[in-house]
Amino acid sequence: MVDIKYIGHSAFEFKTGDKSIIVDPYVSKNEKYNYKKSNIVDIFVTHGHSDHLGEAIEISKDKKAPITAIAEVATYCSGKKCKTRSVGLGSWLYYDWGRAIFLPAYHSSTLPDGSYGGVAASIIFDIEGVRIFHAGDTCLHSELKTYKELYRPNIALLPIGGTYTMDVEHAVVAADWLGAKTVIPMHYNTFPEIQADLQRFAQLMQVNNTNCAILNPEQIDQDEKSVKSAK
Ligand SMILES: [Zn+2]
Repeated sequence: MVDIKYIGHSAFEFKTGDKSIIVDPYVSKNEKYNYKKSNIVDIFVTHGHSDHLGEAIEISKDKKAPITAIAEVATYCSGKKCKTRSVGLGSWLYYDWGRAIFLPAYHSSTLPDGSYGGVAASIIFDIEGVRIFHAGDTCLHSELKTYKELYRPNIALLPIGGTYTMDVEHAVVAADWLGAKTVIPMHYNTFPEIQADLQRFAQLMQVNNTNCAILNPEQIDQDEKSVKSAK
């Protein structure tokens, strides 16, 4: 059983038992969310942009939780005195709560100091047999079809805001290619450039027979609004 909470933008908390894993923790955008209440044991960052690195460094130091990220991002974080796990694309990484794999995302990655952040990533999490695909920032690409075959994701977290990533129409295709039963939209409406028509997304997903879970970060403290996923 994994409890998925949407913090906002591309930030999510996955809770399994008494442990939490946090991804792209741009938590300062959501005043209703207090990371201090969660037992965060691992932090994942898809790429170095500030809307994804977010408050990872502060949380890592506070919780003594390592940041797993692509080598260049990990090196930046170790330079800020954080525990890190430096990784590349393409292999399962094992943790006491499950495993994760970094896969290519079509996007850039620059760190807050302007240095190169390496390749941008999508990440698949396998937590108690539930496979969650976090797309990071990416356009639609045909490798997503192979992810269905290789990883069989149950839940896909997809950007829909456009401009910097895939948009509503492309996210609908991505959902189909990934074959996930549930899709949670992310990376929309945070800035004027990434406004998205959520209703249209929900309608198109309905046509595709895919469960579209629109989570409201404003209601993050209400447990029933998170997605509970059984194996
Ligand atoms: Zn972004």
